[in-house]
Amino acid sequence: MKNQPKSVECWDQTVVAPGEQQEVGIKITESYASASITIPVYVWRGKEPGPSVLVTAAVHGDEINGTGIIHHLLTEQPFEVRSGSLVLVPVVNLSGFETHTRYLPDRRDLNRSFPGSNSGSFASRMARRIFDELVMRCDYGIDLHTAAVRRTNFPNIRADMTNPELAAFARAFGTELIVSGKGPEGSFRRCASSAGCMTLILEAGEVWKVEPTVVEYGIRGIQNCLIHLGMVEGDIHQPAFRAETDTSRWVRAQRGGFLRFHVAPGAIVEQGQPIATNTSLMGQERNVIKAPRNGIVLGMTTIPSVAPGDPVCHLAYPKAGTLRRAGQAQDAVSDESLHGRALQNFGNVIPDGIGGTA
Ligand SMILES: [Zn+2]
Repeated sequence: MKNQPKSVECWDQTVVAPGEQQEVGIKITESYASASITIPVYVWRGKEPGPSVLVTAAVHGDEINGTGIIHHLLTEQPFEVRSGSLVLVPVVNLSGFETHTRYLPDRRDLNRSFPGSNSGSFASRMARRIFDELVMRCDYGIDLHTAAVRRTNFPNIRADMTNPELAAFARAFGTELIVSGKGPEGSFRRCASSAGCMTLILEAGEVWKVEPTVVEYGIRGIQNCLIHLGMVEGDIHQPAFRAETDTSRWVRAQRGGFLRFHVAPGAIVEQGQPIATNTSLMGQERNVIKAPRNGIVLGMTTIPSVAPGDPVCHLAYPKAGTLRRAGQAQDAVSDESLHGRALQNFGNVIPDGIGGTA
């Protein structure tokens, strides 16, 4: 463990001893109405010493699936933390959360403002407080996100897989899909990881929702990570398959129109396979959008009306062998399994033959 400037034991005036659980608050900034903006934080400590894991949600204020995941953890307590500490933050970007938006009131993106500065902009100062008060106390981070507005993501982990410690943590989480990368400049996970708090993100579902399968992926993944670190007892739940890649691209609409989807998030597609048919408002075909390469659908638009250049489908491109094995594993997945249910729940394909007299 790294030498931490602050511990998970002392939070301003509050002491959380080993074996205790307590809500604490961190004053982050002040509102226009001169009120204190204080982030609620839940500290859950095991009796034995061990690593500290930070779980954060709603760094983008409208991405509240993670808030639902943390609520489930708090109310159900599906496992016992035996060693180390779990630090849970249901909403990081309180200002964005209040207005159901991604951004801060100064229109900056908090997730591009880390590690921040005490003398910088509103966003930068807020980022610095979060960094000093939360990130610097912890050894690992799990940052919970969704797709941006009008898009959805099949649950996937993003982490710098060239870092062996972080790669092992990311694989332990147990999503089928992992996209490797350090993350954008100024992002929470990039800055936290480079400061020694090994941080991954879960990208799952869409804004303004708490989706049951996303909550299930999140709970399972957090529990898996804590088992991996020896903080929680039990066996790691394995994903249906593992597909890792550092390459993904958006397939975009070439024409304006209304889409009829042929594949859903999570689907494995072959080069040339139709992804969506772009139609006129009378339903007449204008063009068919096809997969440029063999890949897996990471995310899709949730709004079927598109203009030229609008994103339609986010494809990940694992290696051919990985993709082949993933396809075989997906064919064998039961409809009742978490992966099987997620493939159905994220579905956007209207079946043929609705109605009729049969
Ligand atoms: Zn986000």
